[in-house]
Amino acid sequence: TNPIHIIGGGMAGSEAAWQIVNAGIPVIIHEMRGKVETFAHQTTDLAELVCSNSFRSDDDESNAVGLLHWEMRAANSLIMEMGDAHALPAGSALAVDRDAFSAAVTDRLTNHPLVTIDRTEITQIPSDDWGQTIIATGPLTSQSLAASILKQTDQDSLAFFDAIAPIVYADSIDMSKAWMQSRYDKGDTEEERTAYLNCPMDKETYESFIDALLSAEKTEFKDWEKDTPYFDGCLPIEVMAERGRETLRFGPMKPVGLTNPHQPDIKAHAVVQLRRDNALGTLFNIVGFQTKMKYAEQARVLSMIPGLENAKFARLGGIHRNTFINSPRLLDDQMRLKSRPNIRFAGQITGVEGYVESAAMGLLAGRLAVAESLGKPLQSPLNTTAMGALITHITGGADAKTFQPMNVNFGLFPPVENIKGGRRNRATRYKAYTDRAKSDWTAWLQS
Ligand code: FAD
Repeated sequence: TNPIHIIGGGMAGSEAAWQIVNAGIPVIIHEMRGKVETFAHQTTDLAELVCSNSFRSDDDESNAVGLLHWEMRAANSLIMEMGDAHALPAGSALAVDRDAFSAAVTDRLTNHPLVTIDRTEITQIPSDDWGQTIIATGPLTSQSLAASILKQTDQDSLAFFDAIAPIVYADSIDMSKAWMQSRYDKGDTEEERTAYLNCPMDKETYESFIDALLSAEKTEFKDWEKDTPYFDGCLPIEVMAERGRETLRFGPMKPVGLTNPHQPDIKAHAVVQLRRDNALGTLFNIVGFQTKMKYAEQARVLSMIPGLENAKFARLGGIHRNTFINSPRLLDDQMRLKSRPNIRFAGQITGVEGYVESAAMGLLAGRLAVAESLGKPLQSPLNTTAMGALITHITGGADAKTFQPMNVNFGLFPPVENIKGGRRNRATRYKAYTDRAKSDWTAWLQS
């Protein structure tokens, strides 16, 4: 059998390689470290953890990332096996001894008879002669390869940093204060005319909100981030507030073209708009609210917005150096480049975020590539599983126009109908999600 090429031996590339060789197909991993460094990696080991040593919650009954751990273990994941073998005490989280973990992954792959490790930087999307190839070069993809990806796609299809606005669970928004309406009721259909969720502010609330933004603790820009200019369209809200107390009211919070049905006679001083973040309508992002406020500060400051007093966040905002492609636009549901189907993408470059999510997308890309090599096409898993929810989100569920990286969370799953004991109890609801996911994931693995 022809080997499958994997570019990048990080979290995703290592997991993809393991899945492929377990099916008896050889792989060649092209990893540049040893020849070319990144600013964050410190070693030449495969699957190096560049920052924290945590795989986050290991609770597979009430946490989406814990469920992802479960699904990966059930699929014989190398990353999870080595994470478990080198776990450190961390309560209900899974933390690992980083050096021992990466050394073990490196050892296992290096000593596998079907694995070849080529220590070179790949500077272009390979030609079709390479056959099936998985690009898993991560958030710090080298510049030359990034330039080649840009050339093959287009300007709007590759980002060099993320500018993430906080994402709220729809069912935690107080609709007795908020309402659905697009500015000036624009749109041809009822759905378009009610595409936005609006939270009104009076003058006093607005002024206190600006004060809170200005005084909130922010994450400092790292040296390398200073070289990454952000576009004017992606300025953090606190930077906009620093430019002038009225800047937000003339920017993302402008109160024009909207009528509050709860108080039709009172004109709002400012309006915060949220937009549907997934096709299911379970998640909403706060439009234009990318921020570098610290997480605890975001939760505090954003709860000052009328309607969001008790909001639960699927993810908080941030701005980081991050290379990622516009997957909803570029990839098919098998993670293949639509324009070059022998090229698959995996890991953080596809617009997932985090060690575990990246490795998970490597696992899936590896299995999909194996199925293709064996001529036995495999459907992607259902979005009722954690794996399926992620791949569905990045390859179609998310809006290509506003695509930003995503962690796994229950907002990506279709709701479970008829939960025994009702939907109100969160533990019961999450258990219903995880039970359904485990059963569907087991069925997918058997297929
Ligand atoms: P990586 O693990 O980065 O692997 C990509 C590999 O590709 C690297 O080994 C790189 O050397 C190689 N490569 C790149 N370009 C080329 C090329 N042209 N040719 C050959 N090889 C190439 N996630 C967390 O969950 N927790 C954290 O605390 C955390 N902190 C982070 C801090 C920083 C500074 C950064 C940048 C990211 C952080 N992340 C964190 C995100 C984390 O990096 C990813 O979730 C995860 O490592 C991504 O896995 P990956 O396999 O997609 O990429």
